[in-house]
Amino acid sequence: MNKKLSSIFIILLFINCPTRQQIQPYERTKVLMDTFVQISIYDQNRSPEELNQIVELAFERIKQIEHITSNYDDSSFISMINREASNRAISLDSVMYDLILESDRINKLSGGAFDITIETVKRLWNFSEDNPRIPGDALLRAQLQWVGASHIEFKDNKLRFDSPEVKIDLGAIAKGYAIDEAIRILQENSISDAMVNGGGDLRTICTDLTRGKRKVWIKHPRNTEVLYGYFRMDEGSVATSGDYERYFDYESVRYHHILDPKIGYPARGCISVTIQAQNATQADGLATAVFVLGPESGLELIERLPGVEGIILFEEGGKLKSEASTGLKNKFKTR
Ligand code: AMP
Ligand code: MG
Repeated sequence: MNKKLSSIFIILLFINCPTRQQIQPYERTKVLMDTFVQISIYDQNRSPEELNQIVELAFERIKQIEHITSNYDDSSFISMINREASNRAISLDSVMYDLILESDRINKLSGGAFDITIETVKRLWNFSEDNPRIPGDALLRAQLQWVGASHIEFKDNKLRFDSPEVKIDLGAIAKGYAIDEAIRILQENSISDAMVNGGGDLRTICTDLTRGKRKVWIKHPRNTEVLYGYFRMDEGSVATSGDYERYFDYESVRYHHILDPKIGYPARGCISVTIQAQNATQADGLATAVFVLGPESGLELIERLPGVEGIILFEEGGKLKSEASTGLKNKFKTR
């Protein structure tokens, strides 16, 4: 598992558990989707055995979504699509359908900054610190012609690519979707106060047991010992995209995993973007989109979208600065 990703779980965002009433959550953690996924439930009526059964159903659902969407698994549905969608139109299952539909929406909203066809260029890079790879300019430019929404046809529940070079990647949105699905399973089982936290991307549902007691903390992106700021959130979703999640530094330049589809290189401008939205799919996708757009256009996009707020961290004059959207301006407290 990616060490940097896992550290976000502990250091980037966390929720203050209720203290006054001393109600302890029923809590389980599993490694899924390349990170730690923690499910916490506040419930005073059910036994640990009953809660355990419900939590297992939610974990099982996340595992299913991972098996559909992972590009690291040759037997996943997405791997099959990437091998075969240029030969024939592939009928999508409901998970793929939902994800392609939402990705298409965010692609349009962001003017192409968010683009799942980035995969063909992403494969030229290696962002691991042990074995970093920067692709040559000519190769990158040649491959860039296969990036773009126009290369995929999404019609009648079917997906088709116009070339074997076209590949898709749902790494910027699938974790959010898995979190939403886990919450849906909990709610189907009459759980109404819980948190699902996948490596710092999370969704909460709330009752009076936790109302007013949850704080979402953002850790300093350059000094993991320091808390940068927080806002309160009872119910909602939060996701963060950062240049410190998967990266290597080479000749004093940081190369990280969020790519600008126009140029095929890591997007510059933001250090991290935290998005609050009504569901985690949207929060996850938009965090990546806003990161690519950069602080100015990114903030404009956030302000345009109802129910969406955000905090952008960026560097100016060698100093870390933050900009919060209108709805979070008075709620986001820096330390
Ligand atoms: P996140 O941490 O949610 O911002 O997702 C980052 C991941 O999304 C990367 O590791 C890539 O797999 C993928 N990705 C990178 N750049 C883009 C982009 N411009 N649009 C969509 N997905 C991207
Ligand atoms: Mg994302």
